[in-house]
Parts: sequence; structure tokens; C-alpha cells
Amino acid sequence: MRVIQKYGGSSVATIDLIRGVAKRAISAKNEGHEVVVVLSAMKGETDRLLHLAHSMHPDPEPREMDNILSTGEQVSIGLFALACQAMGEKVKSFLGFQAGVKTDDIHGRARVTDLDPARIRTELAKGRVVCVAGFQGVDRHGDITTLGRGGSDTTAVALAIALKADLCEIFTDVDGIYTTDPHICSNARKMDRISYEEMLELASLGAKVMEIRSVELAMNYGVQIHVRHAHSQATGTLILKEDSEMEKTPVRGVTLSVNEARVTLLKVPDQPGVAARIISLVAKAGIVVDMIIQNRSFSADHASTKLTDFSFTVPLTDYPKTIELMEATGHEIGAESVLGDDNIAKVSLVGVGMRNHAGVASLMFQALAKENINLSMISTSEIKISCVIEKKYGELAVRALHDAFELDKPIA
Ligand code: ADP
Ligand code: ASP
Ligand code: MG
Repeated sequence: MRVIQKYGGSSVATIDLIRGVAKRAISAKNEGHEVVVVLSAMKGETDRLLHLAHSMHPDPEPREMDNILSTGEQVSIGLFALACQAMGEKVKSFLGFQAGVKTDDIHGRARVTDLDPARIRTELAKGRVVCVAGFQGVDRHGDITTLGRGGSDTTAVALAIALKADLCEIFTDVDGIYTTDPHICSNARKMDRISYEEMLELASLGAKVMEIRSVELAMNYGVQIHVRHAHSQATGTLILKEDSEMEKTPVRGVTLSVNEARVTLLKVPDQPGVAARIISLVAKAGIVVDMIIQNRSFSADHASTKLTDFSFTVPLTDYPKTIELMEATGHEIGAESVLGDDNIAKVSLVGVGMRNHAGVASLMFQALAKENINLSMISTSEIKISCVIEKKYGELAVRALHDAFELDKPIA
């Protein structure tokens, strides 16, 4: 079998842990498999590098940022290769560009456009363990790019596709995918299986255990993923196609995201084209808007004024830029003023079974009301419901919802 094993930052946080990971890869090879290992930077390293860059410049150029950020993974793969060699194993490590990972040129969140694994194949054929730096690639100009936070998951899935791997294992610091973050809710339950669609929603709503694009890619190419603990032999969670079992229960998971902020334009004219102008300004700046709320008061005293408040959420990292943009153009659009709030959290319920179960929203709102938590924005899709609340209630809300939907109990 050809196996891809990806180990995250906490799994390679120390020299001893890297030795442990090397042992695990070697034992897979000794079982007769071809093994390609993808590594993240050692825990905390990417944050440290980010901090260094921001200490040097308040608004670092993305190209230079990628030269800095990509070094974390470079250290990990070199250390891993040395660990293997110290154990007498043949190994070769590759940076993203050496492994053939080609991307577009959007520094900081580049997309993999192509992967030519020729050198990896050659080394595997020589009986070597191959180790690849996650999170990085090269663009058409020959510049180093990075794939966005958590991007090593995407490297692993892209390699699994390009090498037609039989197995893609994502090793992390938890036993698999849980009904919610086990570090927030002590009775979170590990799931044996989860659909691509559900994992995609969980990932995009804040469950960082799998990076969003990696799940998207796996879904598009039908790559089955096994998420499991790096230092345990226990079976983890399989991410695969939806089956009828998964629909039996309306809610499968709860997520929390504290990485968003809300921007509100007060009293904008309630006319066609206003929303389009606001949102296209934000989009042109490369900022992704998530929730949008516009609601004019229809009461008699407001009806004649034809004004409305317009709120939307953006990633926290883009919040200062969005406020700046809205303050600069808000008056042109006709807004009275611009308000911002980065003290928010978004809690969400996810499950493919929601499509055919009624009453999920009402139970969600009741559970939050019971804890006296106010909802400031709500959005729904076929398989998820999200509420924006005050940040300080985020973890409480997760636990309340997990209890209300009895997610600790195995599916009957
Ligand atoms: P790695 O460094 O291995 O890539 P991450 O820190 O990116 O690991 O992701 C693992 C973390 O994801 C866990 O420690 C856990 O706190 C968090 N997490 C959030 N939601 C979930 C969930 N539903 N199931 C499992 N882990 C989750
Ligand atoms: N080191 C990168 C990060 O911390 C990529 C990864 O770990 O997947 O986001
Ligand atoms: Mg990760």
C-alpha cells in the first residue's frame, strides 16, 4: 500500500516527539508500505514567525511573509530525516517546491494548482521514506507560497491524489473528529465516521481539526481520510461519503468560531443597489463576508424614512481593514455612521440529518435562551444553523447545545 501520513504541529513539538513520529513512519514501512510523511512546523513555531514579522513591519508584504512562514516546516522535515537516519533508515526530505507542489500566486492563502510527484516516486522506488514540508508550494514565478493556516492538511490530501495513495492518515493531538471540540466540552463524543459535507461545514465554522480546503479537495477526488491520534494506535474517524446512518440524527456536531467581527453601517438608504455597493467594496479588497443582515423597521414611524441598518461579519484579521474601508466610503453610500464589534462568537450546529428533521432551530434558540444568551445574528443552510452571540458566552453556548441535543449519547 502507498500511505500518506500527516503529522500536525503538536505531534512534532519536541525532538522526542519527532523521534516517535519517525518510528511510526518506519514501522509502517516495515509492514511493507510505501510511506510519504507530511509535517507541520513544530507547535507554536508558525505563530512565533508571524510575531517576528509583525515586529519588523506593521503590514508585512505577503511574499516576504511566505519566505518567513515556510521555514517552520523546513526545520521539521530536516529533523525528521535526521531522526530516521539515526535509526538506520533511508529517507529523503523535500520542501514544497522540490516535491512538485505548484500553486497560484496568492501569497498567504495560495491554492494548489498542480502536483508533479516525479521526485517522490523516484525516492519511493529506491525504498526510501519520503518526507514533505506541509503548508508550502511554489508559484509560476518560482516564489515560495504558503497555503493558509492549517495548510499541511491540504498538502497531505493533494499528495494522496497525485500519488494515488491507498490511505491518507491525518495524525493530530486528539483521537479523531468529535461532536464538538473535546477541549471545550468534556463529554464530547468521538465519531467513527463523518461525511465530507459535514466535515466541510464543521471546518468552515471553526473546528480547526481539519483545514477547509483539504476537505474540499478530498471530497472532490473521493479521498478517504483517517483522522487519528499521533501517539496512539486507536482507530480514529473516517471522513467519507454520506450514508443513510448519518441522517438518522439531525445534529452531529457543534462548533465555535471566535475569529470573526461584525461591521454595521447605520441608517443607509433602503434602495436597490446599496447592499451591492457595500459588499462589492469589501469583496474588491479580497475580504470574504460571511453573514449579512439588513432589516428595516416596518413600524409606522420608521416606514417613511426609508433607512435601514446593514450588518455583516468578516474574518477578525480583516476587521481593521474593513472598518477603515467603510469609514472612508460609508458617507458616500449614505450611511450615518459605521459601528464595529469584534467581541462576538459564532456557535453553529451541523448535520446532514437537518434536511429532514424539523425543530432544530427552535431547540437551539431555547437552549441558548435558557442560559440567557442573546442572539444578534442568525443564519441557516440546508445542513447548518449559526448564531452570533457575545464572545464571553461562546464556550457556555457550545456546552449548552451539546447537552440540549444529547450529542454525548451514541446514535441508536
Ligand atoms: P494539528 O496541529 O495536528 O494540525 P490542530 O490544532 O490544527 O492540530 O487541530 C486539532 C485541534 O482541533 C484539537 O486539539 C481540538 O482542540 C480542535 N477541535 C475543534 N473542534 C474539534 C472537533 N470537532 N473534533 C476534534 N478536534 C476539534
Ligand atoms: N504550520 C502551519 C500552521 O500553523 C500549517 C499547519 O500546521 O498545517 O498553520
Ligand atoms: Mg491543523
